[in-house]
Amino acid sequence: MDSDDHKPQRLFGTSGIRGKIGYAITSELALKMGRALSTLLGPGCRVVVGYDSRTTNQMLEKALSAGILEGGCDVLLLGLAPTPLVGYATKKMGADAGVMITASHNPPQDNGLKVWNSNGMAYRPHQEKALEEIIFKEKFSLAPWDSIGEVKDIKNISQRYINDLIDFVKLEPGLKVVVDCANGAASYISPFLLRKAGCDVITLNSQPDGFFPGRMPEPSAANLQDLMKMVKATHADIGIAHDGDADRMVAVDENGEFADFDKLLSLMASEIGGCVVTTVDASSSIDMALKGKGNVIRTKVGDVHVAYAIAKYKASFGGEPSGTWIHPDFCMCPDGILSALKLIALVKNKGPLSKLLNDIPSFPTMREVINCQESQKNKIMKKTREEFPHLFSDVCESNLKDGVRLSLENGSWVLIRPSGTESYIRITLGGKTSAEAQKIMDKSKNFLGDLL
Ligand code: MG
Repeated sequence: MDSDDHKPQRLFGTSGIRGKIGYAITSELALKMGRALSTLLGPGCRVVVGYDSRTTNQMLEKALSAGILEGGCDVLLLGLAPTPLVGYATKKMGADAGVMITASHNPPQDNGLKVWNSNGMAYRPHQEKALEEIIFKEKFSLAPWDSIGEVKDIKNISQRYINDLIDFVKLEPGLKVVVDCANGAASYISPFLLRKAGCDVITLNSQPDGFFPGRMPEPSAANLQDLMKMVKATHADIGIAHDGDADRMVAVDENGEFADFDKLLSLMASEIGGCVVTTVDASSSIDMALKGKGNVIRTKVGDVHVAYAIAKYKASFGGEPSGTWIHPDFCMCPDGILSALKLIALVKNKGPLSKLLNDIPSFPTMREVINCQESQKNKIMKKTREEFPHLFSDVCESNLKDGVRLSLENGSWVLIRPSGTESYIRITLGGKTSAEAQKIMDKSKNFLGDLL
């Protein structure tokens, strides 16, 4: 342990608890999380536990499970499983909660814990705070020796998940698909599911391996060069890639080109139509693509906010530009495997993918970060809320849910938002043209520069 391993005020970030093994994440923390969860739920409850392919997963699974059992709850062991399977199993088994052990797209040295409700929706901030309070105050309620929980194996449920997904999407067979599982949690699911659904499947990085020897688990264009080349070389119709825990999906078109995150989200949103939820950092292309087909609701960044807004507004679909999409008709948990199946079905019916994406309005995106001390963030954001909208004469919508997001009349947009984890203020924007994007970036940087 080093000196910065002091007791933090918050354990949970925007997507569960994540951090370095041996520092923020230890078996001791997992044990406490297990005890806290069973304390919160009460004795006799059942908790699904799954993990991705990381080298530290079994260590955390054993410690977490010990804490859950000690509180008098049962553990339903899923073993190696993508995050969406944890959400699905929690709902299908009628369990009281689920825990996924994963650090998602983070590097191999990291791990984390994310908690799920009985309906497959991620724990909301107030639920996470309740767990934190029990952990910080060590107010664990432990069961007596004769009421300790039991462990049950539910690994077989993965077959039911695969069959349910195939029934749900009803894909016409015949497409050639290259799938890259990042040596992560989807390795034993996605390739088999796609083959069973009638695709001609070529796999990349589809043996679980916590060292991530094929590529890092973040599904960025830079990390997916092999997938892009493989799609082209094999004349495949589409390439699919997941992050480490497969709640996300990104795609490569039939020419081997990486599909723009925002355009892919807009394409799926316009195909589904109706009320669609996304986050403040999503481009205006989703609003344009949905014109005449539905409406867009924007929430704070983070899949739990998307999930909650879907439930609140009874939306038909929701997603973040990162590729974390929620299909509420199936489950409230983001599902990169279902997203892949739906996208492949769309390409089969109306493709090719490059043409479908070409029809989506494009807003060249720019991103920059400005250094800003933690202590200054509140003051800077207050000034930004008050003064920044006045720099533009054509603001048609101002959204203050998470930073300041302005939509301009021609569809250009800009978001100024403090980073939750680093000493930055982020500027994210999209312009009607590249020249306009540059102009908005200059204006935003000058504005923040003057404040700092
Ligand atoms: Mg993930």
